[in-house]
Amino acid sequence: MNVTLDLSRSPATPVQPARVNLSGLTRIGLANALVEAGLVEQKQARMRAGQIWGWIHNYGVTDFGQMSNVAKELRAKLDDTFTLARPEIVERQVSKDGTRKYLLRTAPGIEIESVYIPDVGRSGALCVSSQVGCTLNCTFCHTGTQPLVRNLTAAEIVAQVQVCRDDLGEWPSDRPDRLLSNIVFMGMGEPLYNLGAVSDAIDIISDGEGIGLSRRRITVSTSGVVPELENLGNKTQAMLAISLHATNDELRDKLVPLNKKYPIEQLMAGIRAYPGLSNARRVTFEYVMLKGVNDSPAEARALVQLLKGIPAKINLIPFNPWPGSPYECSSWSTIETFAAILNKAGYASPIRTPRGRDILAACGQLKSESEKLRASARRKLAVEPTLEPGPADAVVDG
Ligand code: SAH
Ligand code: SF4
Repeated sequence: MNVTLDLSRSPATPVQPARVNLSGLTRIGLANALVEAGLVEQKQARMRAGQIWGWIHNYGVTDFGQMSNVAKELRAKLDDTFTLARPEIVERQVSKDGTRKYLLRTAPGIEIESVYIPDVGRSGALCVSSQVGCTLNCTFCHTGTQPLVRNLTAAEIVAQVQVCRDDLGEWPSDRPDRLLSNIVFMGMGEPLYNLGAVSDAIDIISDGEGIGLSRRRITVSTSGVVPELENLGNKTQAMLAISLHATNDELRDKLVPLNKKYPIEQLMAGIRAYPGLSNARRVTFEYVMLKGVNDSPAEARALVQLLKGIPAKINLIPFNPWPGSPYECSSWSTIETFAAILNKAGYASPIRTPRGRDILAACGQLKSESEKLRASARRKLAVEPTLEPGPADAVVDG
């Protein structure tokens, strides 16, 4: 029996691989990508990558067509192979106090929050996320109730900085009056469980021929992933912040369950060994103030004892409640009493004033609010089946 293969019919539409976003590649990664795509010869790679780098990270362009010192033919090929697209801005809110909150979507289900806070650091700090959700379950943190969706890529971390700079009108990068001077990895997720992407993103945003944020103005906050502390210091030279919240293992086990794996003694040893620690480069200890849980004068004194000999700053964070949270924020006078004990021991003005409360700019709140809104939109759709889910989402979120 003869079998004839019919090759005339076109195959099913091939799935196009997503174009790599060049914003997320380090300088070396960019040069390699150009060579691997066959667009540039090896011996020209560094020079070409340098030109393209300047357009992306100094001028903030999102269109290869604007790269006027790159040959037209190469620009067209770059456009065919790569992308510089920014994520979709699902929501942008500006608080009365100037705090700006962004909800970005980079792919279906990948929604990222970041918050710009003016007058923090040298001129203003952007709080960025490193994961969608979190694998850890700190009991006071709303992100901890959301399962990990996935790690963010370096491109998605850098994009948070780019979008904020677009919004603040801060391109080109080398201007003296910049409003965005500091970056803190204190949004959603545990940065030390995504250190590869976090470290690449820090290489990119600290590069002197690009966004040029000093590594000393980039702070990475961790709940205490002890085995990664040394890598963090060696790879990034970033400033370290530790979410401590308790001075004994019994309580910290409850508040930050990761403490069961890496108890306080191990954590303190890891911190003491953090590369580059000095009086000019202190560790920040974050301490969330929970009414009747960790806010007594005895605990303030225990905190002073625990930090002895470590170049340290302390940040007292008034607890931000969320629906269903099992804690309350300590009263202002309790926080002041606690702070006074720390002040007496030499730690200056450690209370972090709440910012952007009117736009729910606290940790984890934005995403959960927009999720709640979308859930109510879905309920509406159940009774109005003629509406398409996409536009309804956009109406609710926009
Ligand atoms: N996963 C990292 C970084 C993100 S959390 C970490 O835990 O350090 C950033 C900071 O916000 C942490 O210090 C965290 O303890 C704090 N935080 C989380 N939920 C909070 C809440 N409801 N109120 C006040 N601070 C909170
Ligand atoms: Fe994760 Fe940090 Fe929240 Fe803990 S505090 S659940 S580590 S994001």
